[in-house]
Amino acid sequence: MSQHAVIIGGGHNGLVCAAYLAKAGVQVTILERRSIVGGAAVTEEFHPGFRNSVASYTVSLLHPKIIADLNLHQHGLKILPRRFNNYLPMPDGRSLVSHPELKDTAKDLAQFSQADAQQLAEYYRLLDEVVPVVKDIMLLTPPNLMDIGFGDLLKLFSLSRVFRQLNNRQKRFLLKLFSVSAGELLDDMFESDVIKSLLGFDAIVGHFASPYSPGSAYVLLHHVVGEVNGKSGIWGHAVGGMGAITQAMAAEALARGVTIQTDAEVSRVEVKGGRASTVHLQDGSAIKADLVIANVNPKLLFETLLDPADVSADVLSHFADYKCQSGTFRMNVALDRLPEFTARTIPGCLEAGIIMAPSLEYMDQAYTDARRHGWSAAPIVEMLIPSIIDPGLAPAGQHVASLFCQQFDPGLGANWDQHRESVADLIIDTVNAYAPGFTERVIGRQIHSPWDLEQKFGLIGGDIFHGRLSLDQLFSARPMLGMGQYKTEIDSLYLCGAGTHPGGGVSGLPGHHAAREILRQL
Ligand SMILES: Cc1cc2nc3c(=O)[nH]c(=O)nc-3n(C[C@H](O)[C@H](O)[C@H](O)COP(=O)(O)OP(=O)(O)OC[C@H]3O[C@@H](n4cnc5c(N)ncnc54)[C@H](O)[C@@H]3O)c2cc1C
Repeated sequence: MSQHAVIIGGGHNGLVCAAYLAKAGVQVTILERRSIVGGAAVTEEFHPGFRNSVASYTVSLLHPKIIADLNLHQHGLKILPRRFNNYLPMPDGRSLVSHPELKDTAKDLAQFSQADAQQLAEYYRLLDEVVPVVKDIMLLTPPNLMDIGFGDLLKLFSLSRVFRQLNNRQKRFLLKLFSVSAGELLDDMFESDVIKSLLGFDAIVGHFASPYSPGSAYVLLHHVVGEVNGKSGIWGHAVGGMGAITQAMAAEALARGVTIQTDAEVSRVEVKGGRASTVHLQDGSAIKADLVIANVNPKLLFETLLDPADVSADVLSHFADYKCQSGTFRMNVALDRLPEFTARTIPGCLEAGIIMAPSLEYMDQAYTDARRHGWSAAPIVEMLIPSIIDPGLAPAGQHVASLFCQQFDPGLGANWDQHRESVADLIIDTVNAYAPGFTERVIGRQIHSPWDLEQKFGLIGGDIFHGRLSLDQLFSARPMLGMGQYKTEIDSLYLCGAGTHPGGGVSGLPGHHAAREILRQL
């Protein structure tokens, strides 16, 4: 008889894991707490007639193998590349646009610094050389460094082969990317604030830290390894919003025989004789399982869903200190008209991610302020207006915009309830300073503070990646040394979410790798 796997959480990684397991003949049930699947990758109507991605809002990391294996295009998924990746308006009226062609970006950058315009090609050449190596690493199941067996030696060997592709200069650059701050890396290469800001923004996305915090260069790297329709390093838009991705995944899972139960919140995982045996739901029902696979943040699994008596002291103490703290504040706004920026624009540049943070010092200050006061009076805002290329998201002539804002202290917890509206006003005022009249164009808004992200999506600490992307929580150590192979210390209990290698983002890779490891062990 086939094995029965219960997956806790219907986020995109749970859906991917389910689809691969079902294809191999495993009987799979997904239990999702919300009334829709998709986790942080969903689309909602947030104001009458206005729909948008609610949390995650732009696509690049989604792995082409997953798109193909899960027939996502056949299920209607269409991804449009952004014409320009980013537009960075400066307070002095100038602006920088990242064009599809490097030479055009360099030409744009030359208005700020000739030296930087020349250096840009070197930066991208180094990135282009090391990114394939990082992509290879992302496809591996990390070796178990706590208990090295023959299989782990093979993985270490294949890892060493991956590194051997690099020359010494590339190795040194990669070492920097894994260890230093983005600020240090960018200061060493460039002189103008504008390019450091445009590139450095990726280093603080979902990362509650200064761009000068050691390790932030890795977060930058994590955001540039993706591709859209075969073109590397760019970001795109899923027509219909991110929910289109997860609805396509759910359609494929259902077609493969997966059972999906929504409004099914798991309250407890019962362990019997050292094995995860039964999943208990909030409504009092229970489901027996041969395999239990957690798509939720591992901290939630070990601290809330398991009885502490079933978890070793070592694991409990690790997850007590496991860092979950993105510091992200996410809004959607309904607009009656497109904003007009005072800084220079070029045709099509408002389709880009519009970064409102003019320097790394500004970002550093935003973090320092947030540590002291909860948030900064000068916050970091990125705005994307997807309805320009996907008009079906809003009524004719009107628009929706995603506001993705960084450095908002998740430590305020439920106190965010008192500050949510005033901080939303501050964010809108911030955009208004770059695009006067913006405030009046906002006719509806949806607000998610870090606390709201935790309450709505189960994202502990509002962490968009299910755990900080820092060296101590990456690769074999994600989410913990000895658990990087998607298997926990409890028999038949596995992990498949963003808290496992290669981490957060809508990539599908944790779900894919977890299924691969589970099937190997069956
Ligand atoms: C504001 C924000 C912006 C982001 N922007 C981007 C972006 O633009 N591009 C990108 O690639 N990535 C982005 N990300 C990151 C990305 O969305 C996540 O890393 C990714 O969606 C995680 O997927 P997952 O399947 O591992 O987990 P999740 O999406 O978190 O899914 C976990 C699921 O488990 C469910 N659950 C929780 N507790 C229980 C329970 N007790 N019982 C049953 N079900 C439960 C949840 O409801 C959820 O559906 C963003 C994330 C956020 C929050």
